[in-house]
Amino acid sequence: MSLPLPTSLSPSKVSTFTECALAFRFSAIDHLPEPASPATAKGTLVHRALERLFWHEPQGQRTLGVALQHLEAAKIEVLEDDEHRDLEMSDDEWAEFHAEAEVLVRQYFELEDPNSVNMIGTELRLEANLGGLRLRGIIDRLELDEDGELVVTDYKTGRAPGEFNEQRRLMGIHFYAFLCEQVLGRRPARIQLLHLREPVAITAVPSEQSIKALGTKTRAIWTAVERACLTESFKPKPSRLCDYCSFRAFCPAVGGDLSLVPRAEAEAELVVAV
Ligand code: SF4
Repeated sequence: MSLPLPTSLSPSKVSTFTECALAFRFSAIDHLPEPASPATAKGTLVHRALERLFWHEPQGQRTLGVALQHLEAAKIEVLEDDEHRDLEMSDDEWAEFHAEAEVLVRQYFELEDPNSVNMIGTELRLEANLGGLRLRGIIDRLELDEDGELVVTDYKTGRAPGEFNEQRRLMGIHFYAFLCEQVLGRRPARIQLLHLREPVAITAVPSEQSIKALGTKTRAIWTAVERACLTESFKPKPSRLCDYCSFRAFCPAVGGDLSLVPRAEAEAELVVAV
């Protein structure tokens, strides 16, 4: 018996597979729910506030004060929706949550002036084929630069352990460039990742070579996924990411119980990486 192959790959799924194959299996194959956490809720909230800023305010009127008003409006939209309504935190934790969200919006303004951005789309879902593999991703913001060239912007609000940062950043950058070229027929002139927490902007100019390298690496990861599905062997890889993992209750590497996974494939052979 083998595990079913996932139907597509996204930048976050590729990162998950390279960081911990078992977490990838729980997410992409077992489809175990990943309940909203304060960190993911904060990310969604800040993304929504910035999206509102660009849609509701024309260039010249995108000030920090206005952005903070959109953050307040976004709180109603995001924190009262089905996904986040049941988030439980103490009063102190909520106060910290709101304060940190405001800091992220303030620090966004340290990275760029939104009045200089000629936005043409937000939250764009792009999908493209790479051989027989379906790649998909969501682009936070697409804009035109002063020469009419495409620029892709991705906001990052989380804190990943340092050793994983570079790998995530570079892979994500080339993934977005590939999707743009395939779907929109134009390679973006620039891709920028705005890490609001640090705050730092990572910018790259995609090339034919970098996109080709993305294809090679993604195919190699897909081959590894296929092999792991065939042999039912997705190895846990304990790291500091375990602290943020939604699947601890099922993961034998941290004392969880794989038999709790609600599917027959839970009997898959596991080799604990040390
Ligand atoms: S707890 Fe750690 S080792 Fe286990 S699945 Fe999650 S990230 Fe992987």
